[in-house]
Amino acid sequence: MIITVASFKGGVGKTTTAIHLAAFFQGKGKTLLIDADPNRSALGWSGRGELPFEVVDQWQAEAQSEDYEHIIIDTQARPTTEDLAALANTCDLLVLPTMPDILSLDALVLTIEYLKSIQTSQYRILITSIPPKPSRAGDEVKKLLKDADIPTFDIGIGRLAAFQKAAMQGIPVYDVKDQRSERGWQDYETVGNEILNLMRER
Ligand code: ADP
Repeated sequence: MIITVASFKGGVGKTTTAIHLAAFFQGKGKTLLIDADPNRSALGWSGRGELPFEVVDQWQAEAQSEDYEHIIIDTQARPTTEDLAALANTCDLLVLPTMPDILSLDALVLTIEYLKSIQTSQYRILITSIPPKPSRAGDEVKKLLKDADIPTFDIGIGRLAAFQKAAMQGIPVYDVKDQRSERGWQDYETVGNEILNLMRER
């Protein structure tokens, strides 16, 4: 399976999502994470610590990808609209993370208008970094997307300091010593299982 993670704005959890989807799929079959973002955040993450899957840049990817069952691609932030069409058509699922804040949503609306115009349904929005209750930001954004008929994952990812520690230490969130690391991993496991179900239905 090929899963591409893209966003029209930086800092929305794109790399965090690519890393944890790769960790989830590595549990199902040999997985490669291709870091195609010039910021090289995923390569940086793997260089700082240890991840249970291989991370390569896009130039190394071509020679290697055949050996893997699953491929996760962390793309460049702010792709052009032409890039986005190509991305959506060359993967099994395009995952578009967004944070529940107004600037991220503005960027997301532009992305979605474009996705609707190219008529692909091969994408799902993932709401990341959802603040804990009593904030209702996560639910509000989810409702907004649902009302607009935009395919969105059933569950989003909570805002947890464990994810920042994971990035700093170069490890998956489940290896972080933090009370909430298990909760963070469960969120991505739920998303991974939803992707598997989606693929079975197709
Ligand atoms: P992008 O690849 O879109 O730039 P990152 O994955 O690098 O986004 O995340 C941007 C920042 O937000 C990082 O500091 C990261 O640790 C933090 N972050 C990402 N997801 C979460 C989350 N669920 N909870 C808390 N912080 C998060």
